Amino acid sequence: MKRRILAYFVRIMAAAIAATTILMTLLTYSMFEKRIIEDLSVDARVLEALLKAGDVQSILNELDDALRVTIVDRQGVVTYDNRVDAAGMDNHLDRPEIAEAMKNGEGRDVRDSRTVDSSTFYYAMRLESGGVLRVAKEAASIWSIYMRALPLILLMTVLMIALNVAVSHVLTDRLVEPIRRLADDMDGVHSAASYPELQPFVRTIRSQHEEILRNANMRVEFTANVSHELKTPLTSISGYAELIESGMAAGEQARHFAGQINKSASRLLTLINDIIRLSQMDSPDAEIECEIVEPGQIAETVIEQLRMSAEKMNVTLKADVRPCMISADRRMMEELIYNLCDNAIRYNVRGGSVRVEVRPVKDKVLLIVQDTGIGISKENQERVFERFYRVDKSRSKATGGTGLGLAIVKHIAAKHGAQIALQSEPGSGTTITVSFDRAGR
Ligand code: ADP
Repeated sequence: MKRRILAYFVRIMAAAIAATTILMTLLTYSMFEKRIIEDLSVDARVLEALLKAGDVQSILNELDDALRVTIVDRQGVVTYDNRVDAAGMDNHLDRPEIAEAMKNGEGRDVRDSRTVDSSTFYYAMRLESGGVLRVAKEAASIWSIYMRALPLILLMTVLMIALNVAVSHVLTDRLVEPIRRLADDMDGVHSAASYPELQPFVRTIRSQHEEILRNANMRVEFTANVSHELKTPLTSISGYAELIESGMAAGEQARHFAGQINKSASRLLTLINDIIRLSQMDSPDAEIECEIVEPGQIAETVIEQLRMSAEKMNVTLKADVRPCMISADRRMMEELIYNLCDNAIRYNVRGGSVRVEVRPVKDKVLLIVQDTGIGISKENQERVFERFYRVDKSRSKATGGTGLGLAIVKHIAAKHGAQIALQSEPGSGTTITVSFDRAGR
């Protein structure tokens, strides 16, 4: 990362230096050129005035060698040049500055000299005679100006690279430091020291980290609970089996013990089934197979299955279902309704009742399981959905409970995007409402 940032910096800086150099050179050169031509034009005007006033030759002979002076007549024939013999010079009408001066009164041009590092600047003006007076001077070319600036530019570049290395080092360190600190200590609350752009990231990481910890804790707790739950029926199975094996129990008593073994074994089976269901639903790639189902129909089927156990508890079952559809996994729907109705019967009172209602409300379908049972106190209402949480352990066990029924209900509801609401009053009953999205309207 550091290297990449540095590379970016260096590239940007190189482009900036190159652009600045080119621009500055062009600007300086154009000013420089303008200045030389202006000087030349002043020289030419002074010369013209002097020429008008006095003896041409003697004035021209006095001229400093730095300035080249050429005079041509109106046909372009060179009549005088202070550097070259005029007689040997070709016609000058084709020189741009002279042609321009003939036409407009004055003309200028810059031409490369024989060497690359200098250029010749020309200024020409028309004389009253119709001929042209031209003055010329050699000066540094744009290239030589650039070459002169080059060492300075190189020095600047080196300095800038050094500065860039230092700055990018400091910047990346500052950027990375809070992340490194976070990686070292996930629970550290000193994130305030980091910069605001990092805050959402820190928050997400932290909440995920907490979630992972929570899940890990839950798993450990769950494993401990499972072992404990499995141990109880297994202990009683092996106890009774031992008694029968040793011959201490015989006849009627042995049959009674065998019955106990059977009971514990089926309890074990129910428990294992529930655990398997939960872990199936827990696995992240567990797909639910949704189809359009009528929860009212499923509720009626479940009620039929539970009629026997309701009669045993002397509880009446009523169904009030309206036709409406939801998109759900049929088997999970059956489980959810079964678990809710089963609880409503098992935690009921003799002579109590259970009412199952399914009805559409706007774009929702409500499944309401209402009982007139023992109810759940306020402080337990939140916890009953936890795995293995039971308000009255002995009653739960006596009625074949595993403490997992509502955890499974909660799971299924979550998988279907449904919401659960629990209303309960100890001594007068419990109502659990699950609201699903309505389908196929
Ligand atoms: P269990 O297998 O013990 O019934 P659940 O997860 O189904 O486990 O329920 C957890 C606990 O919530 C139960 O042990 C019971 O104490 C309480 N509970 C559940 N449903 C009802 C209800 N309808 N009325 C009163 N208490 C209930």
